[in-house]
Parts: sequence; structure tokens; C-alpha cells
Amino acid sequence: MLGAGPAGLTAALYAARGKLKTLVVTGPMVGGQIALTNHVDNYPGFPDGVSGPELSDRFKAHAERFGAEFLDAEATKIDLASRPIRVWVGEKLLEAKALIVATGMTHKRLGVPGEDRLLGRGVFVCATCDAILYEDKKVVVVGGGDSAVRLRNLKTGEVSVEDADGVLLAIGWDPNTSILRGQLDLDELGYIKSDGIDSGKPGVFLAGDLIDRKYRQVATSCGSGCAAALEAITWLEGRPAE
Ligand SMILES: Cc1cc2nc3c(=O)[nH]c(=O)nc-3n(C[C@H](O)[C@H](O)[C@H](O)COP(=O)(O)OP(=O)(O)OC[C@H]3O[C@@H](n4cnc5c(N)ncnc54)[C@H](O)[C@@H]3O)c2cc1C
Repeated sequence: MLGAGPAGLTAALYAARGKLKTLVVTGPMVGGQIALTNHVDNYPGFPDGVSGPELSDRFKAHAERFGAEFLDAEATKIDLASRPIRVWVGEKLLEAKALIVATGMTHKRLGVPGEDRLLGRGVFVCATCDAILYEDKKVVVVGGGDSAVRLRNLKTGEVSVEDADGVLLAIGWDPNTSILRGQLDLDELGYIKSDGIDSGKPGVFLAGDLIDRKYRQVATSCGSGCAAALEAITWLEGRPAE
């Protein structure tokens, strides 16, 4: 498993509970993007909401309960054509019969002071998730070519400073697919061309925001993580014994 966000952790839970020896290479962000926010209001089962870090911890603990193991490191290279599939973490080589890649997305940043510190605390990147929290409040939407919070009127050139309760960063996303370059078909923006759970490579499955250009929610990521693990289990069961 590559990735320890909602998709990777759900896949790990299903794979481990399905009696597969399961290793999660966590990458730089254990818990994934959701660990960056202090309030998740739309994940089922938490009617009063839950903090992102707590939800992530619960996902991880649930996978650990069934025996999933974790390696806090970043995969640096993979070979999807080899058998077993090979994954490098720096100099260390890992081998797997099946692989689920759930390396997610990274939101683009403006690069202004306070941006990271206030993410999930006034700065938000997901309108579906957080817009409701700013009902009746003043929100600045940064997008469509703007590159500062401070605003410049495109007609007059006048620069003004706007006070706001929230800032929605709508400046785009980068898929975390650099290690897939040369392994799977990517478009010019780095998105995987075939957006499905089945990567087209035997035993390699994809899950979560990585393959989702539309919804990008915790619930949808968990759903595809679950599906990817079930596909991996079925695929492994159908393989001839080695
Ligand atoms: C600030 C913020 C607030 C949000 N709020 C909500 C909300 O309230 N409700 C909601 O439903 N959704 C919310 N979202 C969206 C939600 O967090 C994502 O849809 C979800 O986290 C996607 O899960 P994922 O597992 O597919 O990917 P990610 O969460 O992006 O996780 C990717 C994982 O891959 C790992 N990784 C990356 N590269 C490598 C590598 N080379 N090797 C190994 N591992 C690697 C990372 O470390 C990480 O663990 C929010 C997102 C953000 C940024």
C-alpha cells in the first residue's frame, strides 16, 4: 500500500482483515490531507463532527487492529512490470504480490505567510467540505489567476486589502504521481489517464483522490480504498500458486 490517507488506510483495513500480509508505506503525511483540518463535519458516524487528526488516528488504529504494518517513509521508485512488484524506499527494496497506490493530491499553495498555519482554521481548499462553516460570513475566493490574498483590480490596477473570515484557495491541485511516471500513462498535468481502480497493470490497483477529479471527499476516498482492497484480494485469489 502506498499512502496513509483515508483511501490507503481503508484499503489497509480491508486487506489486513482479508488476511493479506499488509504493509503501508505512509509517505510524508500520515493520515493524509484530512489530518490538516481541525473539523470534519461530513464524515458519516460523527454527528457532532470530528477533528481531522482524530479521524486519521482512528482509521490507522482500525487497520492496525487487523495486523496492518506501517513504514513511515516515502516510496521513491517503483517497478510495476516486475514480479514480484518492486518498491524502493530510498536504498531499501520492498517486494509485493499486489500493490495499491493511494498517494492522493496536494493542493497548490500561494506561498504567502500564514497559509499553512491557518489551513483548516480560516484557510480552506475544499468548498464542498467547508463552505457551510462560513455561512453568513465573509469569504474571499482566491482563484481564476489571482496570486495573493491582497487583491488587485484587473481593470484599474488598484491594489486593496480585504478583511475576511475565511479564504478559499481555489487555485488547483497536483496529483502525487511523480513515482508513477514511466509506469502508467499520465497526462501533461500528471493525472493518470485511465481514472479507474484497475491500473491496467496486473496486481496494481489505484484508490482515492489520486483517481478522482470530481468528488475528492473522505467518504469517496474510503469507498475506493475499500474497492481497491477487495479487487486486490480477488486478484490474488485467482492467481496460480508460485
Ligand atoms: C484542509 C483540507 C480539509 C478537508 N476537509 C474535508 C472535509 O471536511 N471532508 C471531506 O470529506 N474531505 C475533506 N478534505 C478532502 C479529503 O481530505 C481528501 O479527499 C482525502 O484526504 C483524500 O484521501 P486519499 O487517501 O485519497 O489521499 P490523501 O489524503 O491525499 O493521502 C495521500 C497519502 O499518500 C501519501 N504519499 C504521497 N506520496 C507518497 C509516496 N511517494 N510514497 C508513499 N506515500 C505517499 C501521503 O503521505 C498520504 O498519506 C479536505 C482536504 C484538505 C486539504
